[in-house]
Amino acid sequence: MKYAFVKAAILDGSRDMEPVFGKAVIVEDGIITEIVPEAELPEGCEIIDLDGRYMLPGLINMHVHIPSSGKPKKGKTDYNKIAKLLRFGAARMVVKTMMAGLAKDQLLSGTTTIRAVGGVLNFDTELRDRILRGEKDGPRILASDYAVSVPGGHMTGSVALPANSEDEAAVMVYELSKQKVDWIKLMITGGVLDAEVPGEPGVLKMPESYIKAACSQAHELGYKVAAHVEGTEGLELALANGVDTIEHGGKPSEKSRELFRSSGAALIATISPAIPFAVMDPAVSGADEIGQINGKALMDNMIECIKACREDGIRVGLGTDTGCPFVTHYDMWRELWYFNKYIGAEPAECIWRATRLNAEIAGIDDVTGSIEPGKCADLMIVSGNPLEDLTTLREPCMVVARGKIFRDPKPRRIKAVDQALDAVMQQ
Ligand SMILES: [Zn+2]
Repeated sequence: MKYAFVKAAILDGSRDMEPVFGKAVIVEDGIITEIVPEAELPEGCEIIDLDGRYMLPGLINMHVHIPSSGKPKKGKTDYNKIAKLLRFGAARMVVKTMMAGLAKDQLLSGTTTIRAVGGVLNFDTELRDRILRGEKDGPRILASDYAVSVPGGHMTGSVALPANSEDEAAVMVYELSKQKVDWIKLMITGGVLDAEVPGEPGVLKMPESYIKAACSQAHELGYKVAAHVEGTEGLELALANGVDTIEHGGKPSEKSRELFRSSGAALIATISPAIPFAVMDPAVSGADEIGQINGKALMDNMIECIKACREDGIRVGLGTDTGCPFVTHYDMWRELWYFNKYIGAEPAECIWRATRLNAEIAGIDDVTGSIEPGKCADLMIVSGNPLEDLTTLREPCMVVARGKIFRDPKPRRIKAVDQALDAVMQQ
């Protein structure tokens, strides 16, 4: 099938993008083959008239946990119970079906690629392959399946499994390679979600020797490593031992800034999960006192880390940490909005980070992330100008994923979450 998308204002995903008018984007077999003046359309195209709407590359969400919807729950989740249930085929089917639905919500919201950085069993890789084979509609998935953590470490028992020694950490990486993951994920420090005392998110949980062993094994097998880090010590040890992307970020030190520069690692900003703990009215978020203290600290440290990296020319990509409370599968646009509000970046910069730069950090910029000949037709079409107002990204009127067109896409929304987050935007 050959399409010509005409009469769009094209935002190509570059750093200082300006809308381009009067050009047609030609798509054949899922690939953008050429961009030509509208007066010079090639023969045999089905014409899709976008009537002055804005076209931009599909967003890339660098930090997703597919198995969780982001709907806030009362009380703590019993992960042991879930692990036991997952021994049964019927329970596994339920989780797989739910994950496919949630991944599709990502797609329908305009996010055409996600990097899954912590899941259960081999469900991320399996879903990735089902989508690739065309059995399910969904985003391109860069999968890591479960994350490598330590006993008592962040998310152990839910989306992470514990390594008990440096050798075991390396073996787990090897096992994950057998599952054909795309990335390795490590949990290096504590995190806000499962912290039991104030300050725990910043505490180093994974010993340096484990980090080193896991990164060496991963790099030897050709994988890049993403690592959950929310403290200074974790930041320094992660960067010194080969981690490729720091997820969230901790309070930066002179040493960590130097290590960022020398290692070439990138930072993935995730402001979204901190918002309910740090900014939202606790009566609405349900965050307890420890959660609020830790959430505020994470927010402050992460923003300092993002600003330091941005100042130093370190690549800073964007992800939402989908699956955390109040972080849904259709809200990547909010991360851009927060990056504009809290970091002071212009909308064009936010869009560039969430598209082309994210693709580069993920190592897929030869495939997606920009509107250029040779790239996959991963597109999002919105009715307003996102360079003037990022909220126009909230409800795309069309999404194109590897050439497949979704008109008037409708992800399933969680009304109470939307209302709570919209109230935060007014603050
Ligand atoms: Zn996460």
